[in-house]
Amino acid sequence: MIRLYDTLTRQKREFVPADPTRITMYVCGPTVYGRAHIGNARPAVVFDTLARLIRREFGPDSLVYARNVTDVDDKIIAAAEAEGVEPSVITERYEQHYLEDMRALGVRDPDTAPHATEEIGPMIAMIETLIAGGYAYAAQGHVLFDVTKDPAYGILSHRDREQMIAGARVEVAPYKRDPADFVLWKPSEPDVIGWDSPWGRGRPGWHLECSAMIATHLGETIDIHGGGLDLIFPHHENEIAQSRCAHGGAALARYWVHNGFVDMGAEKMSKSLGNIVTPAELLQKVDGEVLRLALLSAQYRQPLPWTESLIEQSKTILDKLYRVAGDADPGEIDGEVIEALSDDLNTPAALARLQAIDEPATLKASGALLGLLAKSADDWFRGGADDGAIEAKIAERAQAKANRDFATADRIRDELKAEGILLEDGPSGTTWRKE
Ligand SMILES: [Zn+2]
Repeated sequence: MIRLYDTLTRQKREFVPADPTRITMYVCGPTVYGRAHIGNARPAVVFDTLARLIRREFGPDSLVYARNVTDVDDKIIAAAEAEGVEPSVITERYEQHYLEDMRALGVRDPDTAPHATEEIGPMIAMIETLIAGGYAYAAQGHVLFDVTKDPAYGILSHRDREQMIAGARVEVAPYKRDPADFVLWKPSEPDVIGWDSPWGRGRPGWHLECSAMIATHLGETIDIHGGGLDLIFPHHENEIAQSRCAHGGAALARYWVHNGFVDMGAEKMSKSLGNIVTPAELLQKVDGEVLRLALLSAQYRQPLPWTESLIEQSKTILDKLYRVAGDADPGEIDGEVIEALSDDLNTPAALARLQAIDEPATLKASGALLGLLAKSADDWFRGGADDGAIEAKIAERAQAKANRDFATADRIRDELKAEGILLEDGPSGTTWRKE
């Protein structure tokens, strides 16, 4: 039995999916205009781990996991203008980087990754439904959601109206009837990305994108909606309002799961604070599994202070686990590891238990449930070096030497040395080791 803390009811509840043969989970994905930082990687790793647990409990094909790509947004438009390129140049580049970075952290691609720019039709349809129901209004090329028409507004964030107005970071906008009303559609200038709509040429608001894509890809009511704590208000509150009002009062999600922040010093890591560290930089120095273990070292709802020593400790733990697991084939998953993860993803307890397992096959299978120990011990202790590529270079160097092309042979040796690979020539050929 899996238990999850649900932000909406503020309780840890048994996870009972509506349909255990088609469990639906949606996690708000990246806005692709820059390189992801390690704080952005936390939800990806947390919900990947939850997906693994759900598939173990309910079956490998039981889950449909959707994570969207926000590929139209003011920050994207600004980045494209700064480079003098089309927004799609920016979004394609950074989506690719995002996928590479997350895969390096052992994050499997979601089952579906809807893109906002490909789902404009369903978004316009949802806005029309909201206007027809009296929940939204058009004004000066914008369409706004009228929060005063939704008595349940505030249900997720447990905020009263004053707090919501203050928290909505309200810009003074003459077209809003109420300061807390939020944008469903906004006009685009002729030189800015946009689509034709009944309200003129424009683009969707960010909150709307998730509501429309959830309905299209997963259904009106899903089992789990996830994301970072910072999305509770206004983003998820607004998603709830839009979806419920467009769907005759049907709840958007049965469980709301939110992960805490990654902190740098005393502050939340964020692009706007300029205190970010990216997986891309860290992966130059350490294996992605080290970062994954570090991200799972705190229970997902707790803040996670990101430090050098956290990375070192995570590496030490993985070295120890790989020494025990060796190259064993995965066996049965340890019961205590399952129990720890089933208790609202208690990853610190699961990691502590992993370190106590001395049966290699059990350890290998149990590690896999957390997305760890995916390499062979040999690969791990050679520092994740690409054996095939190194062997190919060694063969190339041997050929060069046979051709008495010593300049090329020396160049290959130096290139490998720059990557930390030392060659040793012996009577039976050349071997290599990590520096
Ligand atoms: Zn969302």
